[in-house]
Amino acid sequence: MNIAAKNLIDRRARLLGPNVSTFYEEPVHIVRGEGVWVWDAEGNKFLDCYNNVPHVGHCHPKVVEAICQQAGTLNTHTRYLHEGILDYVEALTDTFADPLNTAIMTCTGSEANDIALRMARGITGNTGVIATDHTYHGNTMAVSQLSCTNPPPDRWDNVAFVPAPDSYRPLGGEPGMAHAQAFAAEVEKAIADLKARGHGLAAMIICPYFANEGFPTLEKGWLQPAIDAVRKAGGIVIADEVQPGFGRLGTDFWGHQKAGFLPDVVTMGKPMANGHPVGGVVTSMDIMSAFRKNFRYFNTFGGNPVSAAAAHATLKVVQEEGLMENARTVGDYARDGLRRLAETHACIGDVRGSGLFFGAEMVLDRETRAPATAFTKKIANAMRQKGVLLNFLGIHYNALKIRPPLPFTKEQADILLERLDEALHETPLEP
Ligand code: PMP
Repeated sequence: MNIAAKNLIDRRARLLGPNVSTFYEEPVHIVRGEGVWVWDAEGNKFLDCYNNVPHVGHCHPKVVEAICQQAGTLNTHTRYLHEGILDYVEALTDTFADPLNTAIMTCTGSEANDIALRMARGITGNTGVIATDHTYHGNTMAVSQLSCTNPPPDRWDNVAFVPAPDSYRPLGGEPGMAHAQAFAAEVEKAIADLKARGHGLAAMIICPYFANEGFPTLEKGWLQPAIDAVRKAGGIVIADEVQPGFGRLGTDFWGHQKAGFLPDVVTMGKPMANGHPVGGVVTSMDIMSAFRKNFRYFNTFGGNPVSAAAAHATLKVVQEEGLMENARTVGDYARDGLRRLAETHACIGDVRGSGLFFGAEMVLDRETRAPATAFTKKIANAMRQKGVLLNFLGIHYNALKIRPPLPFTKEQADILLERLDEALHETPLEP
């Protein structure tokens, strides 16, 4: 590591406190970005195959222009009348089926999920919440209770966990709808638990693509038995679309559309304004009214004119530049390439994903499917040294996670595949 990077790490520790995480054994000091490329302070160029926040590409000129133009005109908050938030919410809710046609704009995905939990409480009168045991929904006091990966020091009693779906090692041993029924049975158990503890059921909150869980391959309709169980018990379904939304999956604009269900509340964030801090909650007028009646809500920065302009410009770029279609064709191409790599690299156990959200599960042995967790971490670090940024996650932290900005091309997919081939050849497969 060079001396300048070392100094920055020391300064961070001094000014930001301990345990402020960085990616990679040798952290990257990025100073500039354009499209799918970023540059470090020494002028080294990296292919960004990881960052889903600069959704339409780093520093997209249309988003930059929209931000500058509005920042140079006016920035206030939603207690003044302004068209910006209304024009944006109209365009945003056009991407959803009825009755999902009202929204609240926030600054983060965490805030959006916090509101969604309060909506569930407002409409059901209950407090119990179901989540998977390998998820993350954010960092407020309430949503951090839903995390098993970063567990809170004192867990609230109103949360029940179900095993995160794993298509490579399905619960009950059988894939497909048998796995779906096994998952639904766990949801029923969690509902009974919450009732026995006196909370009743307010909601099940899930990422419809199970992004943090390792994006398992699940057929359309897979979630239906679990959703039926939630609705039968009087709860609502919250789809956390912070990761799969806005066309990333290539086939559908939203993860719940790909999964084949209509949620009651949808939350979003990360890619929504290409890096400007914007999140949101979309729901029906019934649920919105129940929330607004039960909770006074105002967010100083949420939906301000500059944020609305940034979000609207981002949405228009996705739609006008055909980025969802690009995600589908380039994603399919990259996955074919990964499958070809699997012919020579036995460590690649399972290639999966949709659009430009994909990866491969690394195993020590294809027969036993034993996760190659330490090896996967080494591969992510080796790729960083080769100028390609990607990362890993999943229940066993052995799934390469590849999620580039949506203007990613086939030529850039080839660079990713070539470097990955090299890294897999050069890195010994060890437990
Ligand atoms: N939900 C999911 C699924 C996430 O992955 C994240 C962030 N990683 C959040 C919510 C929280 O979003 P934010 O960091 O904007 O609060």
